[in-house]
Amino acid sequence: IHSQQGSPPSTDREFENALRPLSFSDFSGQKSVVSNLSVFVEAAKMRREPLDHTLLHGPPGLGKTTLSNIIANELGVGFKLTSGPVLDKPGDLAGLLTSLEPNDVLFIDEIHRLQPVVEEYLYSAMEDYRIDIMIDRGPAARSIQIDLNPFTLIGATTRSGLLTAPLRARFGINMHLEYYDADTLCHIVTRSAHILGVPITDEAAAEIAGRSRGTPRIANALLRRVRDFAQVKGTGNIETDIAQYALEALNIDKYGLDEIDNKILTTIIDKFKGGPVGLGTIATAIGEDPGTLEEVYEPFLIKEGFIRRTPRGREVTDLAYEHLHRNRFNGEPI
Ligand code: ADP
Repeated sequence: IHSQQGSPPSTDREFENALRPLSFSDFSGQKSVVSNLSVFVEAAKMRREPLDHTLLHGPPGLGKTTLSNIIANELGVGFKLTSGPVLDKPGDLAGLLTSLEPNDVLFIDEIHRLQPVVEEYLYSAMEDYRIDIMIDRGPAARSIQIDLNPFTLIGATTRSGLLTAPLRARFGINMHLEYYDADTLCHIVTRSAHILGVPITDEAAAEIAGRSRGTPRIANALLRRVRDFAQVKGTGNIETDIAQYALEALNIDKYGLDEIDNKILTTIIDKFKGGPVGLGTIATAIGEDPGTLEEVYEPFLIKEGFIRRTPRGREVTDLAYEHLHRNRFNGEPI
């Protein structure tokens, strides 16, 4: 087992890197995003220009960092990675921007969390490949202009709703990543098992995929845990019974719902008689931010059929009652 650096992966980060696809053809799912991006990348290469600035949005763990890496690989350019909260001074950003080679990709994760001063700085860099730097202080202070190499900014965000309008307007390409279906996740689990050198049956891969909350990062993490069980309690091979045993032991429910998903559903049932109830009211009741609820949690619950949007608010479905073992009519546990 070797990571890309050639040493055995030990931390979560190293595992993620070892399992990251490196080309469009190796990246499963997100079909229309990938096919559009590959056209834009091809065209930019033909014109020897940087790719337009690209915004990737969608819930965590769906492949935004991976795709950005792939874009740089496919363009044959360098890749620099940073994140919104890390860039707290314009100087940090200036250092990064001036280090870019022509047409390089600069990836900013959690771009909705940029400091306003840093963000403003980014505008001229994105638009004119130019930045103004203030030197000296007091009466001697003056600004000098620095020309940058043309580059592509790829911004990733789980909360596109928090992006300011001027920043959003500067991205020529804007793509949304969706939760993955079970077949695609199954394929990803099988691929990862292969890279890790663990034999896995199709059925066991499907078992893991089905409980991964539509998210490759979760699928890969569950695979690692199941592999531990297979090694210690089984034959080392991942088969259905050991996968089921491990997932039960890890307390992963049948649909892979996490604590907050379950809290949302039980709150709607217990406090609002199953709905309809407004998103803001649910958010207050569970102490979550309404935007995160809407952009990160709700899409999965709607896609899996646990919640329905109605003109008067959100409503849980029969599937939610069934899954939580509640009586459909009075919400009592069964
Ligand atoms: P994000 O940046 O959206 O939070 P990442 O790009 O870091 O997500 O992906 C998380 C993990 O899931 C990585 O280990 C990556 O290898 C894996 N992954 C994501 N999307 C895919 C995919 N389409 N095919 C295979 N693996 C994927």
